[in-house]
Amino acid sequence: MEYEIRRSARRSAAIEIKNDAVIVRVPMHYSDAMAKELVKKHRGWIEKKLRQIDERKKDAALKGFSDEKLTEAEIRRLKNEARKAFPERIEKYAQLVGVTPGKISFGTAKTRWGSCSAGGNIRFNALLMLTPDPVIDSVIVHELCHIKQMNHSKRFYEEVVRVFPEYRKWNGWLKENGKYLLQRL
Ligand SMILES: [Zn+2]
Repeated sequence: MEYEIRRSARRSAAIEIKNDAVIVRVPMHYSDAMAKELVKKHRGWIEKKLRQIDERKKDAALKGFSDEKLTEAEIRRLKNEARKAFPERIEKYAQLVGVTPGKISFGTAKTRWGSCSAGGNIRFNALLMLTPDPVIDSVIVHELCHIKQMNHSKRFYEEVVRVFPEYRKWNGWLKENGKYLLQRL
């Protein structure tokens, strides 16, 4: 099994799977042999993780999962697609939430999928076009509900789930997989 050893001023060792590379983070005094031993000991866990990543890539090969960075042209295309695909959905859910959103725009933030200003202007990440449709809906509903409540309180989520009952499932998908898409920026 291939792995990379990274030594740093840390107290304990840990194994991390990043993308599909195995990284062994160890304290300075840790020898290569000790790292090897650690990998051997946790081989089952590592293999399971790598398999999961493989499967995820396979079922996500559906759309935008790849190790390649998105080109500017691809990003432009995603934004154009989003401008066409979003309005109808936004309108549908805005009615259900009972709000009127302000300006809608599309960006490529590296850390967020949507944001809502105090004035009700909403910005969506264009990379949502690479996610399954219910994920797009979950983010739209989340941001629309912020027009009513600018927080992440229990009441806020009650409203989100009322409008979009599958919210937790698809938000979970995004938490799990979204980072791999954002890495393409
Ligand atoms: Zn929020």
